[in-house]
Amino acid sequence: MQFNDDAELDTSQVQDYRGSGGGGGGGGFPLGGLALGGGGLGIVGLVLWLVISHFAGGGGSNQLTGQPNNNQINQCKTGAQANASQDCRDVALVNSIQAYWQDQFARSSKTYRKATTIFFTSRQQTGCGTGTTGMGPFYCPADQHVYIDLSFFKELQTRFGATGGPFVEGYVLAHEYGHHVQNLLGTSKNIGKGSGATSGSVRLELQADCYAGVWANHATSTPGANGKPLISNVSQQDITNALDTASRIGDDFIQKNLGSGQVNSGSFTHGTSAQRQHWFTTGYQSGNPASCDTFNTDNLG
Ligand SMILES: [Zn+2]
Repeated sequence: MQFNDDAELDTSQVQDYRGSGGGGGGGGFPLGGLALGGGGLGIVGLVLWLVISHFAGGGGSNQLTGQPNNNQINQCKTGAQANASQDCRDVALVNSIQAYWQDQFARSSKTYRKATTIFFTSRQQTGCGTGTTGMGPFYCPADQHVYIDLSFFKELQTRFGATGGPFVEGYVLAHEYGHHVQNLLGTSKNIGKGSGATSGSVRLELQADCYAGVWANHATSTPGANGKPLISNVSQQDITNALDTASRIGDDFIQKNLGSGQVNSGSFTHGTSAQRQHWFTTGYQSGNPASCDTFNTDNLG
């Protein structure tokens, strides 16, 4: 993946709460600065969106812990910087994903409301309760923010054995923004609680993967703040890397390799590795969100 050197970034879509002290009451420094042990990233992580969305209910408080310090993020002004640093790359990816959906909503006379991505370390108070690194990235419907500890991307490689690569960050962020889209469209309402191979949870997660693929299809034609496409190139290797990651965060892979070793489809919440790959591919090949109707199919792949 390559960004256009002279594309312009919009840093207002990301808030940097890293090191701002998610200690919950304590001062910022000790907890905020230290990772809670290297092995943190739980398997639970990827399971989170639903758990959280269920206890979120309506008017949860959305008091974030600490103060954002956007000095570093605000340095990210151009695509050239996105090519050079992870912070700027993730700002640019958030920009691209949201620009795509803004345009897509407008085409169907709907209004897309931008969601801020919150960078945090360790733990962070959210509108959906306390988020931690171990949960992996998540979207909170109550405050409409995406939360991510960027160490997740390293964890994907070291713990889940993923190949990694910059475009994987696009896949993961686009998946989380897929949940925002579902929230805006009302899809996530009434999906039913519970887990299982054909549960509402699995269908919702697979649809978010499909939406990520749809964005990937449009990535090189989606403009940044100054009208120039943010991303100039998505390679076959990038897509391969995204599919590799999808295969590492499937319920069956996680249960087999990072859990009990037994695959129990009754507790699936995200779908199998093959299904996650299938729906990303469906979105990527069609470029059409309408192809992502995981709720009205008997064949989840
Ligand atoms: Zn999800």
